Amino acid sequence: KSTPLTDLEIAAQATMQPIAQIAQAAGIDEDALEPYGRYKAKIDPAKLSAPAKNGKVVLVTAISPTPAGEGKSTVTVGLADAFHQLNQNVMVALREPSLGPVMGVKGGATGGGYAQVLPMEDINLHFTGDLHAITSANNALSAFIDNHIHQGNTLNIDPRRIIWKRVLDLNDRALRKVVVGLGGPVQGMPREDGFDITVASEIMAIFCLATSLEDLQTRIANIVFGYTFDRQPLFVKDLGVEGALTLLLKDAFKPNLVQTIEGTPAIIHGGPFANIAHGCNSIVATQTARHLADIVVTEAGFGSDLGAEKFMNIKARQGNFKPDAVVIVATVRALKMHGGVAKTELQQENVEALRAGIENLAKHVDTVRQFGAEPVVALNRFITDTEEELATILAWCDEHNVRIARTNVWEQGGKGGIELAEKVLEVIEAGNDFHHLYDVEQSIAQKVTTIVQKVYGGDGVHFTDAAKKQIAQIEKFGWDVLPICMAKSQYSLTDNPSLLGRPTGFTITVREVIPKLGAGFLVCLTGDIMTMPGLPKQPAALRMGVDEHGHAIGLF
Ligand code: ADP
Repeated sequence: KSTPLTDLEIAAQATMQPIAQIAQAAGIDEDALEPYGRYKAKIDPAKLSAPAKNGKVVLVTAISPTPAGEGKSTVTVGLADAFHQLNQNVMVALREPSLGPVMGVKGGATGGGYAQVLPMEDINLHFTGDLHAITSANNALSAFIDNHIHQGNTLNIDPRRIIWKRVLDLNDRALRKVVVGLGGPVQGMPREDGFDITVASEIMAIFCLATSLEDLQTRIANIVFGYTFDRQPLFVKDLGVEGALTLLLKDAFKPNLVQTIEGTPAIIHGGPFANIAHGCNSIVATQTARHLADIVVTEAGFGSDLGAEKFMNIKARQGNFKPDAVVIVATVRALKMHGGVAKTELQQENVEALRAGIENLAKHVDTVRQFGAEPVVALNRFITDTEEELATILAWCDEHNVRIARTNVWEQGGKGGIELAEKVLEVIEAGNDFHHLYDVEQSIAQKVTTIVQKVYGGDGVHFTDAAKKQIAQIEKFGWDVLPICMAKSQYSLTDNPSLLGRPTGFTITVREVIPKLGAGFLVCLTGDIMTMPGLPKQPAALRMGVDEHGHAIGLF
């Protein structure tokens, strides 16, 4: 009944079409296609000649993730394949995986089972080099800053007040705080620095939110990288390196075309995390897919409290489009964990715990409705689910007038997502009155309070004294009229990762507010969330290797 094959084995057995064939079927002109080998290509959106279709956007989000796994990417890919099987003109738009989680704990971001994007091995490793380009652009700025100080510091940069950090696309906790410039006068000026993971960098956010190369350069010019000794902000344009940084990104900025196992065209581009960044693929990717297809299925990271909230309040606002339908992925296993079951006990039927855990799903349904959108729940089936457990969720949805579809794309590919696709079409046809949850003109405290109350279900926000100082400074410079990008644990609706289910009566602590003027949002760090993750005791890397033909082993 179950497939004995791993995701990697299924991917290796699939037959891919040459990328030119996928491109042709998707309506991409030959001269808009820049092949990277046989199965990957970049698209130059400026060279698309067909009129824009302005496709409908289907946003896939999920309940709060647990170590049991939800399968959001899997459902995203499978839903696109289902539309493809229904002869809809569809494209899927996903984020690029980061090597941090690939080598660490999570696994890839290319879907699973028979709902995957290919070539999964490439996509999960270096792909077309976009993350390397973003890392290089980020670190070039660090080098320019340190060089400027070394060469006489005419900008009066206070080395203690540089907020720009170096980045690396790995989980490397030892680099969170470092001292650079040691070794005497010829090695530069010693100062404290630190590393973030590339997917948390402002360059990644800008890459994903810029609408053109020109916009990319303007946003880079507007990055605040630090302050002078008399506490005036310093911008990249003061250093005059926005041109160089844009140059480093010019090819990466073109969206990447690949295919699903079933030959559905997929665009994979940009990959900020949803807990410490805004969690959505690039606007250029989504808009290119909307140009070419009638339906675009796209994913935002983690639960609706993180990726989806930011999709709606940041990405949709900046990209000037709306989600036409929202899918919430849920599993019996994860809901049982929200109801208090340990990971080791998930095999056993436990309807009581499931009932308790459904509260988490209830909150995510509620959250999507706050935005004026009507969700469809995708019940991603695992072979361990019992009929009674499945029936419990279906009955709950029925009682609460929530659309739900049993989804089995992991085992069956697109065929297992037909019911879901049909229900999503119903929602698209019905239309919605989507709206953002807050107005950017509101105060920072008001905007954050709205997110905490409406999206997390909490009582309010506590700003630490340090955060209050930063807010005062942000207001002084007039930067407060921007959307908020919350940095929060993905595991809980609160800022405490151990509180599962649907907690109530809590407040969220904001300990830092960081202006990201290039990205166009203000990051609020909550709880003890880190912008450079660490590796677990047994990283996924321990299973990995290369076989005698040069193919990957152990990439899930
Ligand atoms: P997410 O996007 O929520 O992190 P993924 O789609 O990447 O989750 O899936 C995580 C892992 O779970 C993958 O290895 C995938 O093969 C597996 N998975 C997803 N759905 C199922 C399912 N229905 N049955 C078994 N395994 C699944």
